[in-house]
Amino acid sequence: MMFKKVLIAGGGVLGSQIALQNAVHGKEVTVYDISDDAVAAAKKRVASFKDLLVADIKEISDEQAQADIAKITYTSDLASALKGIDLVIEAVPESLAIKKDFWNKASEAADEQTVFATNSSSLLPSKIAEFVDRPTKFIALHFANIVWSHNTAEIMAQPKTDADLPAQMETFAQEIGMVPILVKKEQPGYVLNTILMPFLSAGMYLWYHGIADPDKIDKTWMIATGSPYGPFGILDVVGLRTVGNILKTSQDAESQGIAEKLQKEFVDQGKLGTETGEGFYKYPNPAFQQADFLK
Ligand code: NAD
Repeated sequence: MMFKKVLIAGGGVLGSQIALQNAVHGKEVTVYDISDDAVAAAKKRVASFKDLLVADIKEISDEQAQADIAKITYTSDLASALKGIDLVIEAVPESLAIKKDFWNKASEAADEQTVFATNSSSLLPSKIAEFVDRPTKFIALHFANIVWSHNTAEIMAQPKTDADLPAQMETFAQEIGMVPILVKKEQPGYVLNTILMPFLSAGMYLWYHGIADPDKIDKTWMIATGSPYGPFGILDVVGLRTVGNILKTSQDAESQGIAEKLQKEFVDQGKLGTETGEGFYKYPNPAFQQADFLK
């Protein structure tokens, strides 16, 4: 097994799920986050996602998952966390400045052979590779939200990535229960977000311009196409803070306007989506319960 000891950087919505997925598939997992408070929040998230994973994946018992997550190590000390690590999977916020800061520090402290992967949804790996000391060992490994059931792992090299690394990542992805998807050329948004982002943007356009309300927009899509989710149900699952961060990276005035509206009406009020029990919809239970009308 090439990658046994895995460090997950950032234990937020995605990082905590990736940590859980690695742990229940036998990897030795460390979660690094920015402060003791953030570490405590990450630990809580892993435990709550564990309940969802056990409900979704019948082959994994609660007892086994409990034992696996008890082995996860948590820390806010990056330098010591990196000792002996085979693979770093970075899931820090979608901001180039934060990614730069993280990868600069990780490059200084990591062992020479440690491989680096980013879970960034919208930033090109070649852009982030500029911040690492080992671009040949740097690749994107992109998970989708609800990692264990929406289990694609998009693997995307950048021009300096070693030719062997994509295949090694495919093997790793399979070892942790993912379906590897090799993206053959560097593409902003990989396969998934190249399709998903325009879809979500179109929904937000209709909402931002007061053309229709979110529940009507979702209903239209769901009833007319038979799809289980509309754009606003998906936005709640992605997390409205992450959506806002992605929009802020765009230069156009409309994206900035939508980001401001999201910030004011949702993020500033602690309405981050399913994670906090409220976003565009209210959720009776934490995380991933569909709003009442969607049932
Ligand atoms: P999030 O805001 O939920 O979590 C980010 C975590 O990083 C938090 O725990 C935060 O405390 C921590 N953090 C902040 N600054 C840090 C630093 N300097 N070093 C280490 N940790 C730091 O964000 P998220 O939704 O989990 O997204 C994380 C990454 O995963 C982003 O690159 C995003 O594009 C990507 N991603 C998100 C989704 C999604 O649906 N949310 C899906 C696929 C990929």
